[in-house]
Amino acid sequence: MDIRIGNGYDVHALAPGLSLWLGGVKIESPVGCIAHSDGDVAIHALCDAILGALALGDIGKHFPDTSAEFKGIDSKILLERVMALVSSYGWSIGNADITIALQRPKLAPYIVPMRECLAGIMGISPDRVSVKATTTEKLGFVGRGEGCEVYAVVLLTKE
Ligand code: MG
Repeated sequence: MDIRIGNGYDVHALAPGLSLWLGGVKIESPVGCIAHSDGDVAIHALCDAILGALALGDIGKHFPDTSAEFKGIDSKILLERVMALVSSYGWSIGNADITIALQRPKLAPYIVPMRECLAGIMGISPDRVSVKATTTEKLGFVGRGEGCEVYAVVLLTKE
């Protein structure tokens, strides 16, 4: 069996009155991500991890934020397109591990829905998708509530 590992990282600034989407799930929040797309920073980091494992560049190369096609786009569609690349190269997702750094709101009620949503798009069992949330103890831009930061790691397998 052949394996590949990839890591992804993304940050979006937060602003009042915008929708907050994380891991394909809408989060009840007074702030949301400023973005060209729907701003789902968790899916963006996951896409970058997958593209990294495939050595196919990054999400900005595949879905430029200057393109009208991607304005306001549901990031779940971006993940679907990245998964089509995974399949076309003969790979499967082994597992994914995502860490979301956000000062508030608390994400605990959303962890299972995010895992189920992402697993559904990737065509794998939710027990292969980990989503973890942390604050940064009020330190840095995350701690000041200015942004949301996500790290993702993914393993690809090929028989
Ligand atoms: Mg992004």
